Amino acid sequence: MRNRANPENCRALNRKYLATDKGKAARQRAQERYRAKHRLKLIAHGKVAYAIKTGELLRQPCWACGEIAQAHHPDYSRPLDVVWLCDKHHKEVHAMERDLRSQSHVNTKPGNTPGFSFQEQ
Ligand SMILES: [Zn+2]
Ligand SMILES: [Zn+2]
Repeated sequence: MRNRANPENCRALNRKYLATDKGKAARQRAQERYRAKHRLKLIAHGKVAYAIKTGELLRQPCWACGEIAQAHHPDYSRPLDVVWLCDKHHKEVHAMERDLRSQSHVNTKPGNTPGFSFQEQ
């Protein structure tokens, strides 16, 4: 948390918590959630690529600025429900989502968001 008074204390507490059984279970759950999400993401990208090929989904310009866009998934469980965003706005949206998440979640290691990439198509 950027605006917390003492981030060091917060991290120490986090480490301590993760060493407890409860903490370990929570971490495992988070990993499972991450893996499940990652799987959904791969499936979603495959479906978008296929739908574009068959003409079911039309490539559109960036929703914000009209530039050439990539498909962004607000919800990977609805693979063809995409928002078209250019590289720049796509990154902005992901940064925004990450911010929102970090406000509602206990952060894992700062700077360690494994596998996070912007290579969606
Ligand atoms: Zn844009
Ligand atoms: Zn995206």
